[in-house]
Amino acid sequence: MNILLAEDDLITRKRICRILEELGYHVEAYEDGAEAWEVIEKKAGSKEKQPELMILDWMMPKMNGPDLCRKVRKLSAEPYRYLILLTSKTDTHDLVEGMESGADDYITKPFDIEELRVRLRAAERIITLNKDLLEARKKLEIQATHDSLTKLNNRAKILMSLDREITRSAREASPLGVLMIDIDHFKDINDTFGHLSGDDALVKVASILEQQLRPYDSIGRYGGEEFLAVLPGCSQEVLHQLAERLRNAVEKDLVATRTGSIPITVSIGATVMEPTTKLVGEDTIIANADAALYKAKENGRNRTEFQPEA
Ligand code: GH3
Ligand code: MG
Ligand code: MG
Ligand code: MG
Repeated sequence: MNILLAEDDLITRKRICRILEELGYHVEAYEDGAEAWEVIEKKAGSKEKQPELMILDWMMPKMNGPDLCRKVRKLSAEPYRYLILLTSKTDTHDLVEGMESGADDYITKPFDIEELRVRLRAAERIITLNKDLLEARKKLEIQATHDSLTKLNNRAKILMSLDREITRSAREASPLGVLMIDIDHFKDINDTFGHLSGDDALVKVASILEQQLRPYDSIGRYGGEEFLAVLPGCSQEVLHQLAERLRNAVEKDLVATRTGSIPITVSIGATVMEPTTKLVGEDTIIANADAALYKAKENGRNRTEFQPEA
């Protein structure tokens, strides 16, 4: 683990560096608080690895330890930065002031190496625990918003995106395109090739559709073999082109499954919320896209149909 050390006294700094290195840490050392802050702030705004464990001397020129703690605490909450103040002050009053500046721990000079070692162990436990928690939270978030089979957004998430984009499009007076995409005769695919191959095909089709979209588009699994795409800024003409691109991309190649390759097509229902009309609800847009999809099925499948706003 890396440790950032800010200590103005040369001899103390060298001694701590040596001890930390002997304990197996990699140390970045700075001569005062301002110099340390410059580096911490610069790294916080970059993709560089952030220092997560810091030992900060209290008394330093330019910026002292507590001031540095306060500044660090104003940075984003992630990753958590564990701060240890180093000081010869021993008053309870000082300890309170130090901890209130945002420090996690406090070591008094002259310190015992064993004490430093166990305090650093405690710091590492907190940092690791915090990382585990963040990772678990991220996993749960993905589970709650994604479909486990296709890895696309799930129904709740894509409907949330639709809701957000309806509001945004109205505010920015720009059109919003929506596509309801349904695999043709999927029941037959299941019946002929088995449910597991049907699953394989669903995963492949989802990935083909997703690859065709622009970075600011969203797509989700709306139901069994139905996908909903939300396309900001898409006028009717652009929407039609995009829908045809999706339809062609699915039709173009056989879709590989565990029992062999299958020809698959989709029918697409398209609708646009125009910027000129009054704000329509999510339900109306979905109903329009559904009506368009129904037309596409009626008119022979493997095609796109458009439904204007009702
Ligand atoms: P259409 O062209 O009219 O859309 O016909 P279809 O057979 O695709 O439509 P239908 O609604 O009759 O059948 C959809 C099928 O999709 C039935 C259902 O078993 C299947 N399905 C839904 N979810 C899954 C899934 O997760 N995996 C698999 N393998 N099949 C699924
Ligand atoms: Mg000092
Ligand atoms: Mg279908
Ligand atoms: Mg269906």
